[in-house]
Formats: sequence, C-alpha cells, structure tokens
Amino acid sequence: MPNDFIPSRRRLVMLASAALGTSLLGGIGRLALADADEDSSDNHFEDSANTSFTLANTGLKARVVVVGGGMAGATVAKYLRLWGGSGVQVTLVEPNPRYTSNIMSNLVLSGSRNISTLGYTYTSLSAKYGVTVKQARVSAINAATKSVTLSDGSSLAYDRLVLAPGVEFMDAYGLTQNDYATTTPHAWQAGPQTTLLATQLAGMSNGTFVMTIPKAPYRCPPGPYERACLIADYLKTYRGSASRVIVLDENTTIQAEKETFNHAFTSTHAGVITYVPGATDIRIDPATRQVRYLDVVGAPQTINAQVVAPIPPHRATGSAPGGWLAAAGLNNSADGRWCVVDVLSYESTAVAGIHIIGDAASCGMPKAGHVANQEAKICADAIVRLLGGQQPDPMPVANSACYSPITGNTASWLTAVYQYDSASRKMVVAANGGNTVGASAIESATISNDNFRQMTTWFNTLMGDSFG
Ligand SMILES: Cc1cc2nc3c(=O)[nH]c(=O)nc-3n(C[C@H](O)[C@H](O)[C@H](O)COP(=O)(O)OP(=O)(O)OC[C@H]3O[C@@H](n4cnc5c(N)ncnc54)[C@H](O)[C@@H]3O)c2cc1C
Repeated sequence: MPNDFIPSRRRLVMLASAALGTSLLGGIGRLALADADEDSSDNHFEDSANTSFTLANTGLKARVVVVGGGMAGATVAKYLRLWGGSGVQVTLVEPNPRYTSNIMSNLVLSGSRNISTLGYTYTSLSAKYGVTVKQARVSAINAATKSVTLSDGSSLAYDRLVLAPGVEFMDAYGLTQNDYATTTPHAWQAGPQTTLLATQLAGMSNGTFVMTIPKAPYRCPPGPYERACLIADYLKTYRGSASRVIVLDENTTIQAEKETFNHAFTSTHAGVITYVPGATDIRIDPATRQVRYLDVVGAPQTINAQVVAPIPPHRATGSAPGGWLAAAGLNNSADGRWCVVDVLSYESTAVAGIHIIGDAASCGMPKAGHVANQEAKICADAIVRLLGGQQPDPMPVANSACYSPITGNTASWLTAVYQYDSASRKMVVAANGGNTVGASAIESATISNDNFRQMTTWFNTLMGDSFG
C-alpha cells in the first residue's frame, strides 16, 4: 500500500507513460532521470535533507494558482510541478503557515497523540519542488479576467485555477460559530477546537458525552464512529466506569464500516456507547449542555450532557450566500453546498478553466484525505495533458484507504478502488483492480493491534506524499 504513494524513478516513468501522450513523453522521461543525472539548471531544487533533483523542461508554459494548502491543494501543487515541469509555475495560496492534519486528530481527544505531531509545513513544496507559497486567503475570483483577489489586496493571474478550500461549518442545532469555538466544539477541522474538546473531555468524571453526526455527505464517513469509539475507550478507562457516550446520528444507519462499528458499539464498547440512528430536530443549549431531539419514531427526548460535540452540516468553503465561491457561481450542486465537477479533469461543470478538488467537490467519491490526494493527482495529470493540447485520461482509477482506531491500540480499515464509469460519467467502486464495476468498499475482518501499527505507516506515507 505505501508504494501507491511514492513515485519511485521507475514509477515516474510508468506514470509518465500512462499519463501523457507521445508529444510530452520525452520531457517526462527526462524528468524521470533528472533526479540523479542533472543538477545544473535553474530548476534544480534541494530540500533541508539535501534531497535534490531537477525538474524537467517539458516545453509547457503556464501559470497555475492553487487555493488551499490542505490534503488536496498541497498534493496537486507538488504533482503539477513534478509532471508539468519547470515551465509550469505553481502558486499555492494558503492563509496558515502550517497545516494541521484532521486525520489522526481523534487520537488527540483520547490523549494518545499530541496535536503538535499533526503539523505540516510548506517548506518541502517550495524548497524541493519550486512551488511559490503565498500566505493569504483568496477573497474573490474573476473568471472573466482569469485572476484571483487575495486578502492582502493583491491579485494573481492564472491560466488554470485549482480550488481546494475544504469545508466550512454551518450554524445548526441552535448553535453559532462562536459556540463552536468556545463551548460546544465540533473539532471537525483539527486545530484549536480539537484542543478545547480534549480539555473538556479530560475534565469529565462519570458523565455523559453527546456527539452528533450530520446527514451524508459529510467529511470522512467513518470518522464520527471512530470518534465515538475512542472517546468511549478513554472515558471508561480514565474518567469513570459510569461514563456514557451517546451518538445522535441524523442518518438512519452507520455510514461506513457497518460491521466493524456495529461490533464496536455492541461488544468492544458495550454499555458505554448508545447509538441513536435517525435523530431529528436536534437542539443544543450551549450554556446548560442540555440536548433535545426527536427519536426515530418522533418521540421527544432530552439528555443532560457534561460535554457536547456536534458535527454540524458543512459545505464547500466560500459557498455560503455572498461567499467568494458562491459569487463565482461554482457551488452548483442542487443544494448549493458543493461544486460539481467533471471527474475526468475535476474542472467545474459551471465555469471553464477552474478545477475543484478535495472535500469541496461533488464527485461521487467520499470526502476523505486519501481520496483528496488521489483527486489531486488525477487533476494534475489532466491539467498537464490539457496544457499540452491533449484530452484528460478517459479511464482514471483512484484508490482509497482509511484506518479507524477503535481503542488506544487497535484499529480497523476500509478500502476501495474507484474507476470511471462512462455510462454514468461518475467514479464508482470497482473490484479486481478495476475490472468489475459495481462492487462495494471492503472493511477489515478484524479489529487488531496489527491494523493499528499499519495505520501509522499508512498515515506517514500519505502525509509524506502530500507535503513531503
Ligand atoms: C476527525 C477527522 C478524522 C479524519 N480521518 C481521516 C482518515 O482517517 N482518512 C482520510 O482519508 N480522511 C480523514 N479525514 C478527512 C480528511 O481530513 C479530509 O477529507 C481532507 O482534509 C480534505 O482535504 P481538503 O484539501 O479538501 O481540505 P483541507 O485539508 O481542510 O484543506 C483545506 C485548506 O484550504 C484552506 N483554505 C480555506 N479557505 C481558503 C481561502 N479562501 N484561500 C486560501 N486557502 C483557503 C484551509 O486553510 C485549508 O488549509 C478526517 C477528518 C476528520 C475531521
């Protein structure tokens, strides 16, 4: 699995061959050899570990602006330079100097990880691949003049624009953004809210923790159930055997790894976790932490919780009415929350020349970091082909893997291969390496220590491929 991420020299040749038509093969072939054989041009890059290589001159010339330096944005910036070569200037616009990984952040809540271990800088992207990193926020897009306006008042012109701004959280259940930040953190974007929620959990004793799950689609389908398990494990071990975790799911069933989480809720964490599917009309009082809702048969219920972590419904960042993404007409899903894309190129179906990847996109694949990394590569490949006057790969394949910790030292996993289905023009789950369309994702047969160990390798490899 780890080898799926890191393009070795041999793999670069294979990727280049698979990715590009004959007119560009010479250039990319040179890229494959360049890391060892050439080091004298202006396009020589070296990182802090003195790893060095030279980007190829593929003959392509273009300015690409990437908005958002998360899982999707960092990956696309890197691969545009690797595959597009030295003539493809890539500017990454990101307001934060450091990215905090959401993946593994539930382990911060259970005290197994320190949040500082989840931080990633943009140093490799700039030093190693020559990506220009601009610390700012995009505030407007002008598709007619092909430029974006930044929070510092400056603007950047582009030939192709890639948006990877992730998600923003909606006011819900009677709560505001200020409530999320100060009293009832969702912590569904790792950072200060993760630390706040961890502190609140550490202050609990034999009390009730309530969490909510919004209707799908939402970021990381197995993530909320993983959170319930880890918090149950932590509370019963460290905060008192009478501790309870109540999961109010607005969906009528578990959304991912059904067998695993059914087992975890009814066996591993039996008596601690109460799973409530089909909850509606959830109301949360941020001052008293009283939670009211209607159960699946419509009966009103009330819980007095010690700590509450709602995961509110979310949408593509900037797609609120009046937001910068909405102003550009890019949030064109039926509910106005997501950006619909052509999954061969991730180009918006609403505005030409603008590509959207990661959680902000509506593309038929789950909103997940591993998937964001894959979408970024399909998008980078498509842009390089389009810049060369060619068409995107007509049959892209992507894979997804996700490990879910169930206790402090055991985990499960979920994996799927996605393949383009020309009939529906969507990415669908495939099996047999993509030969059988219509399959479903596979979950691990057991919850084990081995899975937990492999999870660390998977995570480090994924993050290394995206930011390293
Ligand atoms: C608790 C939790 C656990 C998870 N576990 C897993 C897992 O095990 N496996 C997995 O695959 N996925 C997991 N995920 C999901 C994964 O984190 C997301 O799917 C992934 O981060 C999406 O990547 P993205 O690039 O779209 O968004 P993000 O990673 O959120 O990045 C978006 C970036 O855009 C920037 N940005 C926003 N607005 C602007 C603007 N106007 N201008 C410039 N930049 C902007 C932000 O600052 C941010 O850096 C988990 C998520 C959570 C919350």
